[in-house]
Amino acid sequence: MRMVMGVMVLGQLLMRILLAAHAVDRLAAARRILRDVPLIDGHNDLPWNIRKFLKNQLRDFRFEDLKGSQPWSQSAWSHTDLRRLKEGMVAAQFWSAYVPCSSQHLDSVQLALEQIDLIRRLVNKHSQHMVVVTTAEGIEKAHKEHRLASLIGVEGGHAVGTSLAVLRMFYELGTRYLTLTHTCNTPWADCSTADEPGQVPHVGGLSRFGKSVVWEMNRLGMMVDLSHVSVPTMLDAMAVSKAPVIFSHSSAHALCNSSRNVPDHALRLLAQSGGIVMVSFYPHFVSCGERSTLDDVVAHINHVRKVAGTNHVGLGAGYDGINLTPAGLEDVSKYPELFAELLAQGWSEGDIQKLAGLNLIRVFKSVEQIRDRMAADGMEPLEEDIPNEDILGRDYCRYNLKHHLAITP
Ligand SMILES: [Zn+2]
Repeated sequence: MRMVMGVMVLGQLLMRILLAAHAVDRLAAARRILRDVPLIDGHNDLPWNIRKFLKNQLRDFRFEDLKGSQPWSQSAWSHTDLRRLKEGMVAAQFWSAYVPCSSQHLDSVQLALEQIDLIRRLVNKHSQHMVVVTTAEGIEKAHKEHRLASLIGVEGGHAVGTSLAVLRMFYELGTRYLTLTHTCNTPWADCSTADEPGQVPHVGGLSRFGKSVVWEMNRLGMMVDLSHVSVPTMLDAMAVSKAPVIFSHSSAHALCNSSRNVPDHALRLLAQSGGIVMVSFYPHFVSCGERSTLDDVVAHINHVRKVAGTNHVGLGAGYDGINLTPAGLEDVSKYPELFAELLAQGWSEGDIQKLAGLNLIRVFKSVEQIRDRMAADGMEPLEEDIPNEDILGRDYCRYNLKHHLAITP
């Protein structure tokens, strides 16, 4: 009897050693995959933290390692620095030029410009490790050069001040996606809170101007980001966009019924139009609570894959814009662990490559091709009627041509 017990214990021990060895192997395999293909994350809010903590002054910002630097080391909002990005094998990051809703109709355009300027200064200051990238090919090139491809996404349509001219200038400054809303309706698009019980939609999706924003983004080659928008806005944008759209940081509504997540019927439409959902790690969107785990995030990835297909899923953790993270995915250094778990669940290497970055590159290239086709077709910039009279979304302190004419001889 004692011998049988001994054999059983030995067996269990061997099994545990074997499993641990497998886990080490899988992590090594995940790292090898990420050397071959770029790992692209759709959304990181570090620039807003730099505004909060340092008033956008980079003089004393020790981006190499923030774990020993105040207030970063103490902040629940800080998950990103160069050392951990390298450890996590992140090859490309969309940095968010986030603009709070409280600035809508006030200085939202100025704030967006300041955040774009900050991202560009941050990257240029660390040019040995990072490079500003504005094309899909640029991501591949930066990956080969072992520099972090740094892309700019403007978060919140209110940042364009209801002006296609501002949108075009954001593109010129390197912006490659615009999130159509943040947590407020704009005069031309409803945000996700419009879907919540007791809320009355403002526009009911995209207005005529909202559709012209999407069309102009197609013409420019700027990706349309539908994280944060209401379901009717998602559907309108997908119907009107000539190019595939993205969700830069959203998860699956079927697993957590937050209005920030994407419902299955929208996932199916997204697949038809060739777009991508980059899965968010925020526990409130993953487990609809304060706690979640790496396995919960994997469940969202598997769900998007099941409903939309392997070609339409990516990662958009949302680090530095969240104050809670899943156990096992505490910061940007942990991505390889996620891929190791997917390998354990039987994901093929090819499918993992798609999730890591190839899907986003495909979407980005398709957006660029549609831009080129529209240019070849002779499409001109959309000319809006710059209003003299106040219109919705512009009824704030603005330069008044009428007044100017009245006082000019
Ligand atoms: Zn967001």
